Amino acid sequence: MLVASMNPCPCGYYNHPYRQCICGPGVVQRYLSKISGPLLDRIDIHVEIVPVPFEKLAESQPSETSKNVRERVIKARMIQLERFKDTPNVHCNAQMSSKQLRKYAELNDEAMTMLKNAMLKLNLSARAYDRILKVARTISDLDNSENIETHHISEAITYRNLDREGWAG
Ligand SMILES: [Zn+2]
Repeated sequence: MLVASMNPCPCGYYNHPYRQCICGPGVVQRYLSKISGPLLDRIDIHVEIVPVPFEKLAESQPSETSKNVRERVIKARMIQLERFKDTPNVHCNAQMSSKQLRKYAELNDEAMTMLKNAMLKLNLSARAYDRILKVARTISDLDNSENIETHHISEAITYRNLDREGWAG
């Protein structure tokens, strides 16, 4: 598993909630374009992390415990082992072929329309399309849902942050 992080721009404050980015015109775009599209396409999940204000940090909001998350992950892995038990060399959703995607990541009309619109609006590549379907399949497995529902697809689309035209566009 590859986990990587980067600054949003050379000065580090692009999209910062209350500090000004001082990078000149085109600088943010140039900074991001150092990472090639094909490389970004191969990374399943892109998420933008913005600084958390102190008041939020200090709030003692109950969140899901690591123990609970771990149990959900183990369950989702079991679902995938069962799904691919007859397919050698495929153990998890990320490894699905296009043919398996069509079989195991079938979308209802509403979810399909949402994905189509997102593809057009965000100008996503065919590779990004496959990634979204695979990630949506995993989100629905984590949700213990047999079908990929519209909210699973919409969540998966939000994980393609760096494909967005809006990013430094
Ligand atoms: Zn900047």
